[in-house]
Amino acid sequence: MRNQKQLRKLEELVEDLVSVNGVFQITNELQEELNKCTNVSKFPSIFKTAELHPNLEFRMDDEIGRYVVATDLISKGEVISKPVGSKVSKPLRYSRQIGDNVYVVGMGAIEHNCVDPTCVVDPITNNLVAFKDILPGEKATFNYLTTEWDMTKKFTCNCKEDGCLNTIKGFKYLTPQQRLELNNKLPLALYLSKYVPTPQALQTNELIINPVLFNF
Ligand SMILES: [Zn+2]
Repeated sequence: MRNQKQLRKLEELVEDLVSVNGVFQITNELQEELNKCTNVSKFPSIFKTAELHPNLEFRMDDEIGRYVVATDLISKGEVISKPVGSKVSKPLRYSRQIGDNVYVVGMGAIEHNCVDPTCVVDPITNNLVAFKDILPGEKATFNYLTTEWDMTKKFTCNCKEDGCLNTIKGFKYLTPQQRLELNNKLPLALYLSKYVPTPQALQTNELIINPVLFNF
C-alpha cells in the first residue's frame, strides 16, 4: 500500500522532469523520493542505468546489502561500467558523479573501499575500470571519494583497511593533506583535481589565502 503511494508520487514528480543539455534537473523533492527507493530497479522507467561487466554478479548480504562479485576472471584494465546511464543534476544514493553537478544513475552495488579497491575511475572517460586482476569471488569495489564531491548520504566505512577514512561523505570533507594523499594513491576524477593542493601550497599555508577551495 505504502509502496503504491510512493510510486504514484514518483510518477507525478517525473512528469515535470526537465532535461537541460541531457541532464535531468532533479528537484529536492524528487531527490528525496528517489533516495527512498530500496533498489535502483524501483526507479521510474525514464531513468536508465549502465550495464555491468558480464563477469560480475549481484549478491545480497543482510548486513551490507547488495554487492557485486566476479564470477570469472576480469583482467586489469577491463571496463567495469561505462557512464551511459541517465544523467541527473543532484547526487542520489544510486549515482556516480561524472562532472561538476553531473551524476550518472548507476547500480549502487559496487562497494566503497578506502585503500585497496579493485576498480578505479578513468579520469578521461569516467569509465570504471579494473585496477588489478579481479579473481572469481572477489568483490568489485572503488573509492567513492575519487569521484564524489558531496554525497547525498554519509556512511561509516567497513573496509577494515589500514588508512580507512571511516566516515565517507565526499571529497569536499577531506583535509588538504588527505586530498593530496588520495591523489597520490589513486586516479582522481578530473573535476576533483582542481581541489587538490600542491605539496608547496600545503607547506606555505597558501590554503588559508584561498579558503573558497577549501571550505569544509
Ligand atoms: Zn575504509
